[in-house]
Amino acid sequence: MIRYNHFIDGKSTVPSSGRWFDTDNPYRGKPWASVAEGNLDDVDHAVTAAQNALESEQWAGMTASERGLLLYRIADVLEGHASRLAELETRDNGKLVAEMRAQTAYLPAWYRYYGGLADKVEGTVPPIDKAGFFTYTRREPVGVVAILTPWNSPLMLLSWKLAPALAAGCTVVAKPSEFTSASTVRMAELFSEAGLPNGVFNVVTGLGQDVGEPLVNHPGISKVSFTGSEATGSKIGEAAGRDFKHVALELGGKSPNIVFADADLPSAVNGVVAGIFAASGQTCIAGSRLLVQEEIHDKLLAEVVQLASTARMGDPLDATTQVGPITTRPQYAKVLQYIEIAQGEGAQVALGGGPALRPECGDGWFVEPTILSGVDNQMRIAQEEVFGPVLAVIPFRDEEEAIRLANDSRHGLGAGVWTRDLGRAIRVSHQIRSGTVWVNTYRALSYLAPFGGFKASGLGRENGIAAINDYLETKTVWVNTGAPTANPFVIR
Ligand code: NAD
Repeated sequence: MIRYNHFIDGKSTVPSSGRWFDTDNPYRGKPWASVAEGNLDDVDHAVTAAQNALESEQWAGMTASERGLLLYRIADVLEGHASRLAELETRDNGKLVAEMRAQTAYLPAWYRYYGGLADKVEGTVPPIDKAGFFTYTRREPVGVVAILTPWNSPLMLLSWKLAPALAAGCTVVAKPSEFTSASTVRMAELFSEAGLPNGVFNVVTGLGQDVGEPLVNHPGISKVSFTGSEATGSKIGEAAGRDFKHVALELGGKSPNIVFADADLPSAVNGVVAGIFAASGQTCIAGSRLLVQEEIHDKLLAEVVQLASTARMGDPLDATTQVGPITTRPQYAKVLQYIEIAQGEGAQVALGGGPALRPECGDGWFVEPTILSGVDNQMRIAQEEVFGPVLAVIPFRDEEEAIRLANDSRHGLGAGVWTRDLGRAIRVSHQIRSGTVWVNTYRALSYLAPFGGFKASGLGRENGIAAINDYLETKTVWVNTGAPTANPFVIR
């Protein structure tokens, strides 16, 4: 079996515990590699390496333009390895290789975009209102950044944070999910091969409690950038608040996909199916609540059921597979449990409703694409994130009720609006409390467009120009160019 070590200070580093744990292939339902079991000593080692790199001539001594060019080189190296990274991720995480190939081919765009921004970060010269001073601001890297990521899209979610952090001149200690660590370790090796100085990007693998917690609590960390569950996000927010660390949280969702009676139905059907069943529903933006106007409820439901029932399940490494396995064994159990909870609450199963026991699913952790009708928005299945291929269908009467139901959620990450009425599309988009609204489409994302959550879906925005500011501090410098001697006892 392949063994993955930590990557600290430019080197593959064995864990101080002397132990490695298995990482599973979700399609086979068994281990395919082992990963270093990290602890506080490894965290300390990595943070120290990142602190030293932050001050080093090789990194701090680089001009912003040189840093930008280095990010371009990193992008080139990533591009050369995109298809191998895709296969590695598919093996570890079970995502369709067809989706992963597109995702890894897109990753270099983040490094090029933020590489280009690196030398466009400028301070200001405020027109100061006091005689005899020259006053200017500088933008400085925030310091060592801890990046904690979940298992559903390890390399993409890492890159959303890593690219602006490096462009800003920060150094990083990343902790990937214990279920999907291999690709992040491989990324760090590739960055090093591209010429990133030692200690700038370190990876420590292991469990949340053994590595994540000590990393977040480490006094050498200045900012924590986290993507993951609400429960962990809340603990991280508390810990960061206690120590006055900068923090960004990208959390869960229960996104409504709202279909009005005047929508282009074939497009809406495609959008609803892609919204929930892509990546087997294991995306934070999954359109897991289908809000459908009463007069088209039965027709839309029948068409969504029909399309979803044609999904080809099976080996995610086969480019023709459409729905792959659930990434982790505990998540598989959780998805099945939610289907039972929903039925107990009175929801009816219109499609699926249990494990996929098809021969092409082998011993993997597969759940049938599941559609539940007769759902009330107050039910747990409509309020809690399942993170699996489970769609809850909820009827609504009119625009006002659609908006009320969409907003009747602790979450606010994404939303879809399907209508041919432009005025309604804009009205509804503006009234929905979520970080992204897609009109007559679903799931589009870009390095250029800010992404993040309202309410319990998170704090902060990733992507776009402003994201680089999250990795910068502003310093104001006052220079006396001849200001009159002040009264030492009075602040002017
Ligand atoms: P998780 O919260 O269990 O784990 C995320 C990361 O935090 C992992 O690396 C984990 O080891 C670490 N961790 C766990 N406990 C910790 C602790 N006490 N202190 C520090 N670190 C700790 O989440 P998950 O199950 O891996 O991921 C699924 C969740 O991620 C879903 O809720 C999903 O909605 C969310 N997600 C959000 C976005 C977004 O951009 N908003 C994107 C993808 C996934």
